[in-house]
Amino acid sequence: MSGEADRLRALLDESGAFQEGHFRLSSGRHSAAYVQCALLLEQPARATEVGGLLAARLGGLRPEAVLSPALGGLVIGYQVAACLGVPFRFCERRQGRMELRRGFRIRPGERTVVVEDVVTTGGSAAEAAALAAAAGADVVAVASIIDRGAEPGGEAPWISLLRLPLSSWPQAECPLCAEGLLLSAPGSRLPDAG
Ligand SMILES: [Zn+2]
Repeated sequence: MSGEADRLRALLDESGAFQEGHFRLSSGRHSAAYVQCALLLEQPARATEVGGLLAARLGGLRPEAVLSPALGGLVIGYQVAACLGVPFRFCERRQGRMELRRGFRIRPGERTVVVEDVVTTGGSAAEAAALAAAAGADVVAVASIIDRGAEPGGEAPWISLLRLPLSSWPQAECPLCAEGLLLSAPGSRLPDAG
């Protein structure tokens, strides 16, 4: 295992971000473990360090902008952009569709990395990448702190600091539901802004 993955594991442990129990992930699937990246990034010094680790993996791709899906990608995306010295933009879900709002504009041909905190199914990150590509950007990577086993879509490489393919199940097949274990839903997805 690489030094950066070891360092990230240490940061996950000391921040209490790695949690075990019975969770409903934002994808709707159930899992026995959850990584609460908000806790990993709660301390700015830690967020800066994690952003630096991810930026170091991306610098060779010469990104010109970072795009993150709200809400999960905001803190880490900003840190990566700050480290790379490029603009940071975010997209947000509105009535089910990922949109670029708030006057953000993507330049055609702009080398863009999509940055997310955790990818599980990869849905939000893939939607952000598709949005950037539709606006004419050159999506050079989809990057995340943690990859829980997403199936990469699109042509850009998927890069993560730590691959952590924790088991998850559709609710109907969840062994923890079968045991009657109390479910918590720590997901970061906000309801539609409308
Ligand atoms: Zn369950």
